[in-house]
Amino acid sequence: MSFESLGLSPAFVQSLANQQYTKPTTIQEKAIPAILNKEDVLGIAKTGSGKTMAYVLPLLMHLQDHVGVKNRHANMLILVPTRELAEQVHTVFKTFSPALSHPVKTVAVYGGVSINPQMMGMQGVNVLIATPGRLLELLDNNAVHLSSISTLVLDEADKMLNLGFKAQMDQILSHLPAKRQNILLSATLSADLQSIQQIVLSNPTVIQI
Ligand code: AMP
Repeated sequence: MSFESLGLSPAFVQSLANQQYTKPTTIQEKAIPAILNKEDVLGIAKTGSGKTMAYVLPLLMHLQDHVGVKNRHANMLILVPTRELAEQVHTVFKTFSPALSHPVKTVAVYGGVSINPQMMGMQGVNVLIATPGRLLELLDNNAVHLSSISTLVLDEADKMLNLGFKAQMDQILSHLPAKRQNILLSATLSADLQSIQQIVLSNPTVIQI
């Protein structure tokens, strides 16, 4: 299987090749076509499976459709449990966003650092990568608006639950428009996760690695 055959554009395939990525991993083979097709996806996959690129690449392809659309508020929200994962995901977005024919703005926000620069940096953001607590603080400060979110990713959802973010996740979900594409990634499928999954996903494509 090649990246071309999954539906990625030549610019992305070239960018992947430039970075020595020649063959998709199993989760990429299954998730990329489903996400391109605007399906909800439940991916049970561990770190190291290539799960990040499995959603970053097709979501960037969706942003191609936003050419010329002036966005006031973020279109895509990636919720992650930790600052480290926020930075890793941000790096992958920045690595592949030059494959688009127009600039996209990706921002990562997390706690443990000053909130003020994060409040100032929200103008024109396309992709917001956030930990739950800091995102709620930004919402409380009216610094971020989630009314234009059309894609939600919950990455390492099991870890978010284990860290006690369930209430924050519920609160964030209540700010999102109902009509959206949802992608949930988790290393395990616990009972807690099943309940989140039922709230978040509609008729998902299930990928278990
Ligand atoms: P992740 O599961 O997203 O944490 O990714 C783990 C590692 O796999 C990262 O260091 C990626 O650079 C690498 N990776 C992702 N996709 C591929 C691929 N198709 N071929 C080889 N390595 C990959």
